[in-house]
Amino acid sequence: MSAEIRPQPGILEIALYEGGKSKIDGVSNTVKLSSNENPFGASEAAKEAFSRAVHELHRYPSSDHAELRAAIAEVNGLNASRIICGAGSDEIIAFLCQAYAGAGDEVVYTEHGFLMYPIGAHAAGATPVKVKERERVADVDAILAACTGKTKLVFLANPNNPTGTMIGQSDLARLAEGLPPQAILVIDGAYAEYVEGYDGGASLVEARDNVVMTRTFSKIYGLGGLRVGWGYGPQHIIDVLNRIRGPFNLSSAAIAAAEAAVRDTDFVEKCRADNTKNRAWLAEALAELGVPSDTSTANFVLARLADETEADACNEFLANEGLIVRKVGSYGLPNCLRITVGDEASCRRVAHAVAQFKGAQK
Ligand code: PMP
Repeated sequence: MSAEIRPQPGILEIALYEGGKSKIDGVSNTVKLSSNENPFGASEAAKEAFSRAVHELHRYPSSDHAELRAAIAEVNGLNASRIICGAGSDEIIAFLCQAYAGAGDEVVYTEHGFLMYPIGAHAAGATPVKVKERERVADVDAILAACTGKTKLVFLANPNNPTGTMIGQSDLARLAEGLPPQAILVIDGAYAEYVEGYDGGASLVEARDNVVMTRTFSKIYGLGGLRVGWGYGPQHIIDVLNRIRGPFNLSSAAIAAAEAAVRDTDFVEKCRADNTKNRAWLAEALAELGVPSDTSTANFVLARLADETEADACNEFLANEGLIVRKVGSYGLPNCLRITVGDEASCRRVAHAVAQFKGAQK
């Protein structure tokens, strides 16, 4: 290996992001509850649109995603010219870091925030700055106190992954107002659709010129495998992000399926209602077994075990029962397991297995 060949500073500080496991060797009848996917899959309309796209596979896809942006704008009451689409919201996060943060700059995120924020910061040569939360809830005062003249981006997932908690509209507004003038607030709304009546931060984007919202088709729309996300922001920021976006960053099949998915509002409504019902049932069942969780606003529950040893043992027990959940030690929560809210049968299986685990411990 040549000692002269070195990556850019910061790159080797990135710990590899590991996605949720999807199978366990030697265990059958598994259910994957480790990546916050929609247990009902994608809507039929999205699948049909995907199939139709097969006939045009030899064509390059749309480079401006005009039809998809128009659909997103129409359904959400937004301005299509201020929407940018990416290969998952991960790509929008990366664009923001590349375009606005570099060597000597700081990127602020919260203690149990999504790992792609520090990865994006390091990849851009900037310094990630992690801010303490208050009992697994973002602390606006602490975030504002951490901002300096070098802060270029502040990332906040609302609801947050993996805690499931969120802050209210007035706190979001206070955060946006209090930022230094050179900083952009990025409200990551990957789980926004699970919160009845929440706009994901869209109204704050409309009201200010320093706020960007990111959204995804990977969660409630059930299209994680296709990689589609989007961002909404002031025109001057979206225009900058488009300069670094590859012209064909989304496949034609992904564009077609996402457009159909966003228009299928009945499906989204049904998934939201099911999630709300099953989430409440699961959280209560776990609490009765002595496994508390914070009130989740997303499609997962962060189950708190006594300590890391118990969390590891519970994770292994569930795995042997075919239930794949997520350890979140890399998010600073070693005593917790993040469990995606599956369909009713999966939730019952989880509760049953945790009861057996707790019983075996006595
Ligand atoms: N933000 C948050 C908070 C997430 O949990 C995720 C997915 N794990 C993403 C963004 C990225 O989602 P995607 O790239 O699939 O759109």
